[in-house]
Amino acid sequence: MGQSPCLSESFKTHMKNGKMRAVGVLPGKRVVSLVSHPAPEIASASQVKIRTIEVGICGTDREICSFAYGTPPDGSEFLVLGHEALGEVVEVGASASQFKVGDLVVPSVRRPCPHRACSPCQSDRQDFCFTGDFTERGIKMTHGFLTEYFVDEERHLNLVPSELRDVGVLVEPLTVAEKALAQVFQVQQRLPWENLTAGKGKGYGKTAVVLGAGPVGILGCMTLLVNGFTTFVYSRSPAPNPKSDLVNSLGAKYISAQTVPLGRFAAEVGPVDLVYEAAGVAQISFDVMKLLALNGIFVFTGIPAEKPAIPIDADCLMRDLVLKNQVIIGTVNADRPAFEGAIRDLGVFKRRWPEALGSLITGRYPIEAFEDLLLDKGAGIKSVITLE
Ligand SMILES: [Zn+2]
Ligand SMILES: [Zn+2]
Repeated sequence: MGQSPCLSESFKTHMKNGKMRAVGVLPGKRVVSLVSHPAPEIASASQVKIRTIEVGICGTDREICSFAYGTPPDGSEFLVLGHEALGEVVEVGASASQFKVGDLVVPSVRRPCPHRACSPCQSDRQDFCFTGDFTERGIKMTHGFLTEYFVDEERHLNLVPSELRDVGVLVEPLTVAEKALAQVFQVQQRLPWENLTAGKGKGYGKTAVVLGAGPVGILGCMTLLVNGFTTFVYSRSPAPNPKSDLVNSLGAKYISAQTVPLGRFAAEVGPVDLVYEAAGVAQISFDVMKLLALNGIFVFTGIPAEKPAIPIDADCLMRDLVLKNQVIIGTVNADRPAFEGAIRDLGVFKRRWPEALGSLITGRYPIEAFEDLLLDKGAGIKSVITLE
């Protein structure tokens, strides 16, 4: 990737000119580079200005940097990347009463579409937007957080307790599991007798399988464990490896799909009440779907790239879906309760697994390391760019 044509001065000179460093993707030129970006100012009383502390890097960022998707705002040649952010409030608009200077915040990602007829967006549920005209910070038509300061409406910000400063950057990836489980529990209200286990966790006596051991998978595993599920993680890499060690230390069981074929996996885990897919791979997903128990639920969170069609046991799966009352859910993005749940559960995780939670963040890097983090496949579990 080419060096930025835009950044020729030092950081300090930029700030004097009201400019900041940012990591931008220029789809028109197929370039990812450091860009010079105007420092934002509060433009209305309900806005808050935030200094970026840390930004997590994920597969979505890497896909944008391969130009699979990612759209700059109208009139901009580049899109500032970054959608997993932790920041500190530095200025508060006159009517933004929920926050004060010094507060830690995590912003949500999706912003509502402008259409009055879109009831989800009109109800602050842009995660269910049906027009497709929503924007997403750092992904679709709105600049992201991989820069030094950003401004947002206070209703898109979530307060993070100061004791979660070292792990707050994990809030956004954890919202995937939070929204997924909220929907699982909504669907399972069709089983009112399940409430008989109230007080022991909604997953008490149930078996869950997580597909994939990336950050979304491991955070999902933690969420399932604190809800009481007996949890298995089925992932490609042979064990032992750092991820299998981490998963096993939580009290879940890591099983390698490369060395333990489906039949042996099925015999070990028994009927599966919930599958939480976080691998983005269709073949293993539809294979494991066959292990779903009576009244079971399968949640897809991964987004596979387009590939040639693969054979699946369609009749067997359809028969089971009907005869076993099974449900398949796809889930994207998150609402405010999912962010609040993620912040609450990060506190629970930190108390229960202080070392393991911290070890999810396998590297902290300066902004200059963006090329290694965004253009390579990515090593470790979660890489983070630190801006302070
Ligand atoms: Zn992400
Ligand atoms: Zn909408």
